[in-house]
Formats: sequence, C-alpha cells, structure tokens
Amino acid sequence: MNVVDILKNKGLKKTAQRIMLIKLLQKTGISLTEGEIKTEMGDLYDRITFYRTVQTLLDTNIIHRITVDNITVKYALNHSNHDHSENHIHFFCKQCHSVTCLEDIAIHEYRIPQGFETEECEVLIKGMCDKCGKE
Ligand SMILES: [Zn+2]
Ligand SMILES: [Zn+2]
Repeated sequence: MNVVDILKNKGLKKTAQRIMLIKLLQKTGISLTEGEIKTEMGDLYDRITFYRTVQTLLDTNIIHRITVDNITVKYALNHSNHDHSENHIHFFCKQCHSVTCLEDIAIHEYRIPQGFETEECEVLIKGMCDKCGKE
C-alpha cells in the first residue's frame, strides 16, 4: 500500500518522519534497529521525533516492535490489517543478526495460571536463517 494511504487510513497526519520511516521499512522489507534507521534517515533523524513517530506507528498498528535482547529492539512493518491478537513469531539469525517476521506462524494462546494476566507475548526463535544456512 501507498505510504500516504496507510497514514490516511489511520487518520494520521503526513509528517516527513512518518513517511520516511514507513518507506524505509517497505523498501528494505526486513526489520530494522534504531541504529539502522538512523543511518538511513541521515539528517532527518532526530531522537525525540523518532521515538514519538515510532510510538504513533505502534499505537496505530502500522508497525510492530521485536525485542531481541535487552539492547536490541527492531521495528517491522505490519503487512496485513491483522490486529494485535493475531501476533506472529520471529526468527533471529545468530550469524547475520537479521530478524524475520514469520507471519504465517501465529503465536499460541498460552494457558497461564489463574491470577496472571497476559499483556504481551513475544516468541523469538534463535538459530540460522535460510541465507546463512546455505553457505
Ligand atoms: Zn542469517
Ligand atoms: Zn513481525
């Protein structure tokens, strides 16, 4: 979908940062870290605006966040109009450090003990991706 249409669908204003961030994720087709986004954005990058932009895009389900470990967070585009309940799993490649959205594989509903309440559930499989495995 066209970036302008994505924003319009969600009732969001077309700011330069929002457009740039979505375009970047569309272009690369993979998940990116803040550092990678920063490099690509160049002069347009501004930390405060970046976090505000990311939060808006997360809140409106345009992108999602993938927590790799306590220092690495990646962002990826939501390809469908799936809402949060249809979450998918992610694959982290230990060799090339890429994170792939495995959108066809949904996260199970885990039955957790009474009294506990799930807010977020992330599944990250670690191993070797198809590209690295070939070499
Ligand atoms: Zn790899
Ligand atoms: Zn994903």
